Amino acid sequence: MRIDDYRDSELVKKIIHLISKTAPSRKIKIMHVCGTHENFIGRFGLRSLLPENIELVAGPGCPVCVCPASDINTAIEISLMDKVILATFGDMIRVPSKSNSENSENDSLQKAKSKGADVRIIYSPLDVQKIAEKNPDKRVVFFSVGFETTAAGVASLIYNQPPDNLSILSSHRLIPPSMELLLGIGDIQIDGFLLPGHVTTVIGMNPFEIFPEAYLMPTVSAGFEPLDILSAVLSIVEQIKEGRASLTNKYTRAVKEDGNPKAIKIMNDVFEEVSSYWRGIGRIPRSGLKLRDKYSKWDANKIFEIEKGNKNFFDIHPHCSCHLIMIGKIYPPDCPLFAKKACNPENPFGPCMVSMDGTCRIWYRYGGKNN
Ligand code: SF4
Repeated sequence: MRIDDYRDSELVKKIIHLISKTAPSRKIKIMHVCGTHENFIGRFGLRSLLPENIELVAGPGCPVCVCPASDINTAIEISLMDKVILATFGDMIRVPSKSNSENSENDSLQKAKSKGADVRIIYSPLDVQKIAEKNPDKRVVFFSVGFETTAAGVASLIYNQPPDNLSILSSHRLIPPSMELLLGIGDIQIDGFLLPGHVTTVIGMNPFEIFPEAYLMPTVSAGFEPLDILSAVLSIVEQIKEGRASLTNKYTRAVKEDGNPKAIKIMNDVFEEVSSYWRGIGRIPRSGLKLRDKYSKWDANKIFEIEKGNKNFFDIHPHCSCHLIMIGKIYPPDCPLFAKKACNPENPFGPCMVSMDGTCRIWYRYGGKNN
């Protein structure tokens, strides 16, 4: 099939009709955990096509948004050191860090850059390797942020023994533990999960077995096109109607049950799972990745020995509601600062308005509640 086939308006109408016919009359809340899904839902106006009782809500699927302020502060501190080049993905440099005090001016890597730090935007881990090779007299630090998809690329970089002047400041997070945490938050009431396409391409379906088996939660992988997303919604709705829960792969053109075994093997070799803090959400067991000791010569945390602040402080500004948006409790327009002068992409107040994967930024771009 061509991409256009996944956007065929007649097929979209047919699936919407089937969803409407199948869905029970009660309210159903389906959560996705992927910024790309939110982008496609907004861009194609999929929420406005669904029956009113079916909610499609974004969870913590923006890696830049969940990156703790303390990690950003560590990156800022390292970037301001002598003979350091700090590289990171584009969205990361604008994310405000100091948000725990009403009076504090927000800091960011962009501000560090304006103070003279050599902060560079990269597009892939290989870019960092090139920077390190071209600058042997500098210490090149990659502030690596992202879920399993990005972590696989970073693992491959380290596995292949990059130059000694390169190091990784890992702020990687893992999707399945965050989904499990959400099920423990009583007043969200999730009825089904739509699994992230990129992440399942890497780790496969197996790590998600726990959701239908232990939590009786319909759990369906989906690609990003309208027909992909709506087919997954239909599958969830059918399962709810039939009173069953299964792990279903609706993205078979990209996702295999056991994912990409080579990438998984390299990730497991390079990284170990650690309990990690998610911005505004809290500490989640085994939800982050740190370099294993055998790779410590590339571990920026070991090389720079930055004094870490308390990661358990509430690092969302008191007036920002990102923490509620990231757990699917409210929508961006429910935040009083949304789209007003106080918070927009040019002047973001919280992390959800900075990243292209941030729910507030996406809603700002594509419109209000009906996107
Ligand atoms: Fe935070 Fe701005 Fe989103 Fe409100 S609109 S939740 S202040 S990022």
